[in-house]
Amino acid sequence: MSESNHHDVDVAIVGAGLSGLFAAHQLLRAGMNPLVIEANDRVGGRILTEHVDGVPVELGAQWIGDTHHRMFALATELGVDTFRQFDDGEATYEIAGSGVLRETAFHERFAAELTGVDRALRLLDDMSAQVPLDAPWDAPRAHEWDAITAAQWLTDQRLAPVAERVLEICTVGILAVPMAEVSLLDMLYNLRTCGVGAELFAESEGGAQTTRFVGGSSQIPDRLAARLDGHIVLDSPVTLIEQNADAVTVHCRGGRAVHARHVIVAIAPTLAGRIMYDPPLPGVRDQLTQRMPQASAMKVFFTYDEPFWRADGLAGQLISDVGPGRMSNDTSPDDASYGQLLVFLEGEHARTYGRWPTADRKAAITDLLVRHFGSRAADFISYVDGEWAQRPWTRGCYNANMGPMVWTHFGAALTPPIGRIHWAATETATHWSAYMEGALDAAQRAVDEVLS
Ligand SMILES: Cc1cc2nc3c(=O)[nH]c(=O)nc-3n(C[C@H](O)[C@H](O)[C@H](O)COP(=O)(O)OP(=O)(O)OC[C@H]3O[C@@H](n4cnc5c(N)ncnc54)[C@H](O)[C@@H]3O)c2cc1C
Repeated sequence: MSESNHHDVDVAIVGAGLSGLFAAHQLLRAGMNPLVIEANDRVGGRILTEHVDGVPVELGAQWIGDTHHRMFALATELGVDTFRQFDDGEATYEIAGSGVLRETAFHERFAAELTGVDRALRLLDDMSAQVPLDAPWDAPRAHEWDAITAAQWLTDQRLAPVAERVLEICTVGILAVPMAEVSLLDMLYNLRTCGVGAELFAESEGGAQTTRFVGGSSQIPDRLAARLDGHIVLDSPVTLIEQNADAVTVHCRGGRAVHARHVIVAIAPTLAGRIMYDPPLPGVRDQLTQRMPQASAMKVFFTYDEPFWRADGLAGQLISDVGPGRMSNDTSPDDASYGQLLVFLEGEHARTYGRWPTADRKAAITDLLVRHFGSRAADFISYVDGEWAQRPWTRGCYNANMGPMVWTHFGAALTPPIGRIHWAATETATHWSAYMEGALDAAQRAVDEVLS
C-alpha cells in the first residue's frame, strides 16, 4: 500500500472493488502508473469472504457462471482454483399454500398452471432480444416498456397464482427489490445483459451460479491487490474531484490529494453521486445518480457437521413464498467436509427480516429450514448473516436498479466519460451487469477509454 499524502500518477481510480482493482491491473500492464483510492480498510468491496471458526463464509459474491469468461481467465491467471456447484437432488417448493413438496411432486401437481411460466419466459426472451445493450432507450418499444413496472407486466400475464409466485420469487432473487420498483425495460435489460435466456435467468440466476472459488471469492481481489503493491491507498474516502482541461485532482477525507491525467470512478452510481465535482457534473448525470438506488439483499448461512440433506436426495434448494427466506442453496465445500446452507433474504424480505433482532431472525429462518430439510436443520454449528445497507461504502446490494422512466430519460448519462472522468463498476457494464463479470467488463471499457 502507498503511504504518501500527495501523489502524481497517470490514472486515479476511486474504489478498490473488483472493477477498480482490475482497471489498475490492466493499466499497470499497459505501462501506466495507476493509484487506487479506497474508502474502506480493506479491498474487495462487494466481495467478502469471512472466516468463521475456520470456515469460509461468502457474505458477498460467491458464484460465477459458464459464460463469465473474464472471471475464469482472471482466476486462472491469479492461480485461484474453481469447483462446480453441487447440483444433485431435488429442490423443495412451498408455494401458494402447497405445503412443502419435492420438485417432482410439485411439478406433477401444478403441471397445467406451470405452463404459464414457460409462456412468460418465452415472451421475456423475445422482448429482451429487442433491447440494445449499449442503448436500451433505443429499443423499439422502450417508452412503453419503461412506463410500466415489471410487477405490472407480470400481473398483465394473468398467470395462475402458483406460476406468478414462482416467476416473482425468481425475479426478486435476481433484482433484490420488489418487482414494483423496477421498470419492465430495466428487467428486460438485466435479462439481455446476461445473454443466457430467461429460463436460466429464472431457474438458476441466469446460469450465473455454476462455479465457486476454492477457499473463497476474496482471493480474487486479495491477489489482485498483491500485484498492485504501492498502487493502493486504503481508509481514504474520496470527497471531491476537480478537473480542468489537462488534469484531475482527487481529494480524500483526511487531506490526501491525488493529481492525475484521468480518474476512473469505480463505485456504484448512487455512491458516485455523493462525491462533489468541480466543475459540477451536467444535470442529467446527477439526476441519473439520484435515481439508481442500491437493492436490498442479505445472505444467511447455517453450517452443519455434514450436508445431511443430500442423503435424502435433496439439493438444499428451497423456493418458498412463506419465508422468511424465499430461496436457499447448498454452499458446502467441494469435499463436503462440512455442510452449509445459504438462505437469501431479498427485496422486501431483506428489509423486514433484516431489521429484526438477530435471534428472532435466526429462529424464524431455522423454522423455514426445518420445514424443508427436517429437524436436523436445527442442529447447526454456526449461524452467520450479512447486511449490506448498513455498510457505508456499499449501502445495499446486489446492485443498482432503475424504476420507470429512468433508462429512457437519464440512461444515456450512465457510461460516457465527462471530461477526464470515466465511469466503471458493475452497474456500468453491458455484459453481466450486476455480477463480478460485469465489474471486469466495465473496468476494461474504462481502461480502453483512458488508453485511447
Ligand atoms: C451479498 C452479495 C452477493 C453477491 N453474489 C454474487 C455472485 O454470486 N456472483 C457475482 O458475480 N456477483 C455477485 N454479487 C455482485 C458482485 O459482488 C458485484 O457485482 C461486484 O463485486 C461489484 O464490484 P465493483 O468493483 O463494481 O463494486 P464494489 O465491489 O462495490 O467496489 C466499490 C469499492 O469502492 C469503495 N468506495 C465506495 N465509495 C467510495 C469513495 N467515496 N471513495 C473511495 N472508495 C469508495 C467501496 O468501499 C468498494 O470497495 C453479489 C454482491 C453481494 C453484495
